[in-house]
Amino acid sequence: MRAWHVQTPGPVTGSRPLRLHDHDEVPRPGPGELLLRVLACGVCRTDLHVTEGDLPPHRHGVTPGHEVVGEVTELGDHARGFAVGDRAGAAWLRWTDNTCAYCRRDAENLCPASTYTGWDADGGYAEYMTVPAAYAHRLPPGYADAELAPLLCAGIIGYRALQRAELPAGGRLGIYGFGGSAHLAAQVALARGATVHVLTRGEQARRLARELGAASVGDAADSPPEPLDAAILFAPVGDLVLPALAALDRGGTLSIAGIHLTDIPPLNYHAHLFQERQLRSVTSNTRADAREFLGLAARHKLAVTVHPYPLDAADRALADLKAGRFDGAAVLIP
Ligand SMILES: [Zn+2]
Ligand SMILES: [Zn+2]
Repeated sequence: MRAWHVQTPGPVTGSRPLRLHDHDEVPRPGPGELLLRVLACGVCRTDLHVTEGDLPPHRHGVTPGHEVVGEVTELGDHARGFAVGDRAGAAWLRWTDNTCAYCRRDAENLCPASTYTGWDADGGYAEYMTVPAAYAHRLPPGYADAELAPLLCAGIIGYRALQRAELPAGGRLGIYGFGGSAHLAAQVALARGATVHVLTRGEQARRLARELGAASVGDAADSPPEPLDAAILFAPVGDLVLPALAALDRGGTLSIAGIHLTDIPPLNYHAHLFQERQLRSVTSNTRADAREFLGLAARHKLAVTVHPYPLDAADRALADLKAGRFDGAAVLIP
């Protein structure tokens, strides 16, 4: 089977950190695991961070990819909940210990022992991969494989970021950066009756924001036309924390969706935080977030903008993501 591996982390434009190998064998599902034949794998910014070394390597030569739609082809011992032939999803959160204080208080996203697909274990930039059955997801009907893939990280994380932003009913939401995750979170907010202001660079992304129903669309560091009850920062740009906080109304919350952010410049207490504005990070997601979001996607058809690439072009897809050459989400199709 073909699989991409992170040889030596480095810039995707230049050092060719990713290499495609042809393996004689497919992986074997361990106890409690499913073997998936990959049908589609989304290309997420986190894959770029793993490939370029912004995230420290957890496993040498790891195969990236954690938005995986697959067909179950084999079950390991004691793997429950799925049958051969089922469609199943693998997402970023691969495993937690279920015993620590965080797991016990329904915050398994904070589990210090947690492991991640495409970082600690091989992911979906391949023809086959394994996933623990207890962390695999049932997928909503009514979507093509390629449309489902971005829901599994971009969608779930965007949903958690929206929940963490505590947008009041009918509230005003600012979205900074408008890629794969943002365009899904925006639709959830709009479906709930929010007014959505999108602030992003890139004309394609702005056009998509307008098509989806954003009330206003501006440049990344612009001020939105009205104060915001909540904002989500999707762009991995620490500089944008300041204008996003400044745009919040009294009591507003800014949630930062990314796993990686460039440094945040010094804040001015009065301009950026006073009046009980809050700044929050978002760390991974729980399985409950995934179930809620995928349930919502089953009831409310989300428009998923997908750019398919053949599996062999994973390196090009990552370079295009880095350069902002497409709107919506890139998806690898083996
Ligand atoms: Zn735990
Ligand atoms: Zn991701």
